[in-house]
Amino acid sequence: MRESPVKRHPTVGVRVGSVMVGGGAPVVVQSMTNTDTADVGATLSQVAELARAGSELVRVTVNTEAAARAVPAIREGLEAQGLDVPLVGDFHFNGHKLLQQVPECGEALAKYRINPGNVGRGAKRDEKFATMVEMACRHDRAVRIGVNWGSMDQELVVQMMDENASSRQPLDNDRVIREIMVISALGNAQRAEQLGLGRDRIILSCKMSGVQDLIAVYRELAGRCDYALHLGLTEAGMGSKGIVASTAALAVLLQEGVGDTIRISLTPEPGGSRSQEVQVAQEILQSMGLRSFNPMVVACPGCGRTSSTFFQQLALDIQDYLRRQMPLWRGYYPGVEEMSVAVMGCVVNGPGESKHANIGISLPGSGEVPVAPVYEDGEKSVTLKGERIAEEFQQIVQRYVETHYTPGG
Ligand code: SF4
Repeated sequence: MRESPVKRHPTVGVRVGSVMVGGGAPVVVQSMTNTDTADVGATLSQVAELARAGSELVRVTVNTEAAARAVPAIREGLEAQGLDVPLVGDFHFNGHKLLQQVPECGEALAKYRINPGNVGRGAKRDEKFATMVEMACRHDRAVRIGVNWGSMDQELVVQMMDENASSRQPLDNDRVIREIMVISALGNAQRAEQLGLGRDRIILSCKMSGVQDLIAVYRELAGRCDYALHLGLTEAGMGSKGIVASTAALAVLLQEGVGDTIRISLTPEPGGSRSQEVQVAQEILQSMGLRSFNPMVVACPGCGRTSSTFFQQLALDIQDYLRRQMPLWRGYYPGVEEMSVAVMGCVVNGPGESKHANIGISLPGSGEVPVAPVYEDGEKSVTLKGERIAEEFQQIVQRYVETHYTPGG
């Protein structure tokens, strides 16, 4: 395994079911369902899909008694499929009631997400918050104190805005908002500790939807505590906008060593797969060299020297092939997830890039002799030609895996 390229911000490790978050553990990928949790079949199927895609924690909405009662059945269904992915319950407004009414739900969840802005007001708020923390203590579960700028604690907002307005040198509103979020997260974490929840049971998040705001608020948060941190750009959006904005924000923070678990809050396109958010999270971590999940395909963008779509198709086929093989390879050939495969369009950068990869192919560009040299560990091993280049290259990749990775490690 490669050494991590960044020095991680030190945090207290939190065990969430079978997964460690923080304390120097690899950054954990998590996701959230968008099914009605009360619909056991639909939610079980989506949690299983997300887990199989590589989500190491999956959060489900727990908003009604029916949803709370469904959680143990979803847990059992996952166990029956051999999936031990920990479930996280997302509570707002009535979490205290649901956890009391349905203790089996609290038992089946590995972590409770509490949004301090959606717990209540005044003394009632304190009471409800205390109930949720007590339930976490009783079941020995982790808690994420998840502040979101779309639902901030309004009493704290009014108080801190007033204080700022009457101060001699008032800060601009954005800075005050960020400070409110940090104070809310840290203040509630402190209360949770006073109520008996260990530091090794607390994860914090302060989610915002602006890239610069998110970076600033997490820098502030990390500078002021050693709680494990959950990172995510809230309401990131759809398609490439959501992916780019999330990547831009998270990459800066991860590079500074901030963040112990990440979620990419993508809005799926109609009919799109929910597990895209898992794939994006994995690709961010892998591109940054922080973790390896799947062999990386390096492909050139193509240009006027590639007159056909053959090389695009080959890059796609190889990527699909690697994804299909990984569930089989992952357990059998440890380390294969770090393999890199280059698929290049012509002689300009093809041989060079292919030599840098574990295995690479340089296809013939327009006007070149129609042959495709293959490189393994930096050396040309064979030259392919004819109609079956794609199939033959896949066979070479398969053989490379079988001969370079030891079964069972
Ligand atoms: S490797 Fe060749 S085909 Fe690919 S982008 Fe570079 S010049 Fe174009």
